[in-house]
Formats: sequence, structure tokens, C-alpha cells
Amino acid sequence: MPSTLASHVEENRQRTLEELKAFLRIPSISAQPEHDADVREAAEWLRSALERAGLEKARLIEGEGHPLVAAEWLRAPGKPTVLFYGHYDVQPPDPLDEWLSAPFEPELRGENLYARGAADDKGPTFLWVKAIEALMATTGELPVNVRVLCEGEEETNGAHIGNWLEKHAAEIPSDAIVVCDTEMFARDWPSITVGLRGIVYVEIEVRGARNDLHSGQYGGVAPNAVMAAAEIVTALKDRDGRIRVNHFFDDVEAPSEEELAQWAALPFNETEYLENEVGSIALTGEPGYSVLERVWARPTLEVHGIRGGYVGEGSKTVIPAKATVKLSCRLVPGQIAGDIVRRLEEALKLATPAGVVTSLTVLGSAPASLVDPSHPYLQLALQTMSGHFPNPASFIRCGGAIPIVGKFQSALRAPCILFGFGLPDDNLHAPNEKFYMPNFWRGIHVIADYLRRLADRPS
Ligand SMILES: [Zn+2]
Repeated sequence: MPSTLASHVEENRQRTLEELKAFLRIPSISAQPEHDADVREAAEWLRSALERAGLEKARLIEGEGHPLVAAEWLRAPGKPTVLFYGHYDVQPPDPLDEWLSAPFEPELRGENLYARGAADDKGPTFLWVKAIEALMATTGELPVNVRVLCEGEEETNGAHIGNWLEKHAAEIPSDAIVVCDTEMFARDWPSITVGLRGIVYVEIEVRGARNDLHSGQYGGVAPNAVMAAAEIVTALKDRDGRIRVNHFFDDVEAPSEEELAQWAALPFNETEYLENEVGSIALTGEPGYSVLERVWARPTLEVHGIRGGYVGEGSKTVIPAKATVKLSCRLVPGQIAGDIVRRLEEALKLATPAGVVTSLTVLGSAPASLVDPSHPYLQLALQTMSGHFPNPASFIRCGGAIPIVGKFQSALRAPCILFGFGLPDDNLHAPNEKFYMPNFWRGIHVIADYLRRLADRPS
């Protein structure tokens, strides 16, 4: 038995890498039914990896959709219980011809391991499995109690894990949930995500005349549904980027001064961001807020598409009778989806011009989630991560949603700790997805170290 965790990890480096590659070779694409057997194979592979790591009761939990993978080790009485989450399914790899190496033939180029799922989320999942394995191998036990609950339909928004949690949360009491499915702010700038925006997605239908009309015969009298749609969307948000929906901001909870100070200290360059990431001639948005505040802590209203009228080749002189607008609002902590829908409906009534009728249909919603950064487990996570990287770790937020975070927090009443080991250029969901392997090896140490430090805290 090697004496230290570091030497154990070092001595098993090659074997660990080969195992990760084997996991990545399984094309567990949850969106495509022809890959159902592969998704199951990945579940089974993960189950046996958990067992090999030394966890007990490693099992698949069947239900509607792809199986959950669970395991536990509960032999540290009086110590906290940490639940690890990850997902073993991946996005489809298309477009295939843009990959420099085959998506399911993992290839190490430089310090990056390229494969579909390398960063999202097999690499980050496997690193905590290896942290558990290294602790078990070097000490014969774990410093805290551990549970595992992984899913195979994260990429398809499957209902299995949420439904299971609703019924069985009481069977898996936990003090903290560790999720490794996010990214660091930048290379060498470790981060823990504590805020995720939610979303309300709606479709607005605008109806004018009974059917499309000739603009020579009826132009000047008939209502134009596309013009009306344009008037409506511009009434909802002005040209300065201010959302004009009554009471829209009433429940917005602002980030703390401390959080804002951390954001201001991040290595963020607005010019580079504009040129390299956005690629437009200027950034837009709400006046008075920094870019990071606008993408992390302010709600949005964006139009995704307007359909209506004639958009084919050449000209057709038509007055459109119908137009459809796809629109969404990103929500921030404090905002409730149902309230925002009602306020949008009222704003739509006010914005609807004469001659047309409008209706609004909700296509989907997810709440925003916030983890309390002052929670001692979060503070400990920040300190632990800081010790393994060149720069201190910071709490950041994410403009998108990770619905499982809210589900875990409300079902288990415990904080979710989102350790980010991915990098912004990992090409998630895109060709040439990769994982920066130095973060894989550091991640093993971060997680092992975190569990050890948690053991010193009462549960
Ligand atoms: Zn993911």
C-alpha cells in the first residue's frame, strides 16, 4: 500500500488514463435511441468503477428512461455525508467531419484529452471516482460518508433523477452535494459556481386579418401581423437594453458586495471578450451594470425568432395575417417563473397594437438557483481549491441553467458545491471537445483534500 495519496495517484497515472479512455469510448448518446445499449453500457461501466473504487451497494436504479447509478460508503459515524453527482451520457458528436480525431477514440494531444464527453461530464465525474479510490487505497477508509447519484439523461433533460429524488430523497440524507459539471473562469483561475440563471420560454402568436392579403388592394387598411410583432418586441425592451415589463425587476436579488468585489478581481478583458467571444462591433445591454453582472446576475429578455409573412426568393406583396415570436427571459435568484409569465402577459396586452389579437404560450421554464457562498462548506471548498492552483479560487455565476442544482437543494436541503474543472474553451456540445488533463489530476487532489478537511467539521 503506497504511503501517500500523491504517490498513489502518480503510480497509477497510466492505468487511470486508460480507464478514462475506456469510459470515453462508450458512445453513450442519450438523445439517440439507437445508442440505448451504449448508454446502459456506460452506466454499468460507471457502476463497476464505483465498486472498484471501494464504494458499497454500487447499483443501477431503473425507472423511466436511462438508469441512475448509485453507490455509498457510510462507515464514518458522526462525520458529514457528501453526495456526488455526475452524468455519464453525452451529446451527439455531429458534425463529425469537424473533429480532428474520432469523437469516441480518445486522443491525447499536448495536455488535452480529446473525445466527446471528455469535459462534459465523464472526465470530471471520473476524477472524483479516482479521488475516492485513492483515499480508500491509501487509508482503507474515507474521511466522511459518501453517496453517489449519477444520471444518464442530463443532456436530454430526462425526468428520471428528478422524479426519483421527489420520492426517495429521505433515503439519501446528505450534508452537501458535490457537482463537477461546470468550468473555471479561465485557465489557472479556479472557480466555484454559486449562481445559475433560470429561464421562461414563451411563444407569442399575433393574428391580424383572416388570411394574408394583397398589399395593393388592402395596404393602408389591413393590420399587419409582422409589423405588430415588431412593435410588441420593441415595446418589451427599449433600445438601451432596458426591459419594459411592469414589475419585472421587483423580486431580483442583487449579488452581495463581496461577490461583486470577487467578480471585479477576475481576469476579465472586455475588449477581448467583445472581439473573441461575441464578435460584434459593440456589446449591448442594460446601462449601469458590468458585463459579468449582465450575464450572471441580471434577468434578460431575448427574441429567438420571428416567423411570418413572405421570406422566400424575390418579392411577394403580402400583408401577413399571422406572426409568431419566440422569446425567453433568463431569470435570476428571487424571480419566480409563474410571476414573470403573468407580467409578460400583462405587458403583451399593453403592447398589442390595434387590429391584432395576441396570445402567449409557455414552452418551458426552469428556476434560477443560488448557493449561499457564506455556507461553511462553500467557504471550505473555496479554500481547498485555492490551495491547488496558482491563483486563489473565486465564487462565480453562470448565465445558463443547471436544473439539477435546484432539485438537489430543495429535495435534500443541502448546498450544492459546483467545483469547476472544465475550461471555457473545452468545446462542450461541439466538435473537438476536450479536457485539460492538468485539471483532471489537480481535481483528484482537490476532491480528496476537500473530503479530508470536511471530516474536521461536525455534520
Ligand atoms: Zn454536463
